[in-house]
Amino acid sequence: MTLTTYRRKRDFNRTPEPRGGPASKQAGALKFVIHKHDATRLHYDLRLELDGVLRSWAVPKGPSFDPAEKRLAIQVEDHPLEYGGFEGVIPKGEYGAGPVIVWDRGRWKPRGDPREGLANGRIDFELAGEKLQGGWKLIRMAGRRAEAKTPWLWIKEK
Ligand code: MN
Repeated sequence: MTLTTYRRKRDFNRTPEPRGGPASKQAGALKFVIHKHDATRLHYDLRLELDGVLRSWAVPKGPSFDPAEKRLAIQVEDHPLEYGGFEGVIPKGEYGAGPVIVWDRGRWKPRGDPREGLANGRIDFELAGEKLQGGWKLIRMAGRRAEAKTPWLWIKEK
């Protein structure tokens, strides 16, 4: 995976965000993190570790525990694994300016091959976090191909 887009959007002389090393395969359980990011608009960022990076979605309303609620989740650039522990304030004028905190973190477990899921637009998975647990799914909105800022829906499983 590539962090080119992530790095292009940021000036690491100005932002406290990690530049990240080379994407490294990590053995064992996969990590997830949800950042609460008080940028121009408050939103949450869902980040799922896969192949040495954090696959990322910006979720304007955050997760819902109600399986009847579908939450818009815009796929954004992959972030470095080191971003999982990031908390801080991105300075004014920089990309994503505003405070970032870790809202939840833990392990995630895809059902089936998550690479196929990403390509096909449906990922079913389990979360074992402090706030979020159990089954969830991400479904790419109909008719949309994988591209920058692709809209997905994030839904709690019944
Ligand atoms: Mn964000």
